[in-house]
Amino acid sequence: MVFKETIQFIQDKFNTKDFIPLHVPHFNGNERKYVLDTLDSTFVSSVGAYVDRGEAMMTEISQTKGAVAVVNGTAGLQVALQLVGVKPGEEVLTQALTFVATTNAIQYNGAQPIFLDVDYDTMGLSPKSVLDFLEEFGERRDKGTFNKKSGKRIAACLPMHTFGFPVHLEELLAVCKDWNIPIVEDAAESLGSSYKGKPTGSFGKVGVFSFNGNKIVTSGGGGMIVTNDEKLGKLGKHLTTTAKIPHAFEYFHDQTGYNFRMPNLNAALLCAQLEQLRSFLENKRKLAGDYAEFFENQGITFRKELENTKANYWLMCVEMENLEHRNSFLEVTNGSKVMTRPIWQLMFRLPMYAHCQRDAQTNAEFLEQRIVNIPSSAI
Ligand SMILES: *Cc1c(COP(=O)(O)O)cnc(C)c1O
Repeated sequence: MVFKETIQFIQDKFNTKDFIPLHVPHFNGNERKYVLDTLDSTFVSSVGAYVDRGEAMMTEISQTKGAVAVVNGTAGLQVALQLVGVKPGEEVLTQALTFVATTNAIQYNGAQPIFLDVDYDTMGLSPKSVLDFLEEFGERRDKGTFNKKSGKRIAACLPMHTFGFPVHLEELLAVCKDWNIPIVEDAAESLGSSYKGKPTGSFGKVGVFSFNGNKIVTSGGGGMIVTNDEKLGKLGKHLTTTAKIPHAFEYFHDQTGYNFRMPNLNAALLCAQLEQLRSFLENKRKLAGDYAEFFENQGITFRKELENTKANYWLMCVEMENLEHRNSFLEVTNGSKVMTRPIWQLMFRLPMYAHCQRDAQTNAEFLEQRIVNIPSSAI
């Protein structure tokens, strides 16, 4: 396999024979103006008008009732889990096919992940594997659902919308509701994606977005916690801003909070980027359409959104035939300065998560050996 046509196609699309990265940000809107505004106003740090504006914009975009701007998506996930009641010594159901931040956020709370398989079609947490696990190990008690094997409480379920493809949310919500387990959506990769017309991040009790430099919009670094529960939203703001009780001059903090605030300097960048979200989404959808047509002729599977969902096509991907096919694709493309990357290694392969309880991982292992990201920048 030489993949010559693929390299040629990508070089033509991005109009260069130089290095083509997986994803780059575009700053063609009000970025300069807003960032300079923060300098002129001297409000570059933890409070400022752009923080409030960014939160208001995200409340609207995610169709939720409240948004809390934070320093990055990982910190957002850490606090989101705390908000739904995850405590040290408890457990969280999640997928092993994810970026390490999802799992780290559980560990930061002193809780432990349980890795359940993903669906082949969504590449995200499978409602069926959650149901199967709960039917085998779940025990309903007054204080919630407990794991018969470990004796620990299962405090939350943390699905991740891989590369912006929504998980089967309706089915997952039904299972988790039946077992009384709150959902935190790791929507770090899925800003702009929707399921049956509703934005990802708005389905769980709490949702979390990331605005890291490689995401669909960036604030340099940053994240956003969103929720439809106004009380939880207020608590989220309180916890991420040192848990200080408002007072004209006294410093009183009522619990151990965090300094997880998004600086106004970053929020300025965020606002300018969010103004362009719709055009980024359109451009990426167009590229995805062109890729789909091209790869179909090549006999390579390009991953497309499922019926009743809209993917943001943040990072686009192809599914290769097997590990060998995948490896030769990675070698040839990267050797030609076309950046491609394999999907993550499963979390239980990492030393700190090797001991965690998990199910058979059939789909996760299948995808781990085959999925490759290809250049996906909005053009
Ligand atoms: C990017 C990402 C995060 C973390 O976001 P940061 O803002 O980089 O901390 C969490 N989960 C997933 C799945 C991500 O892709």
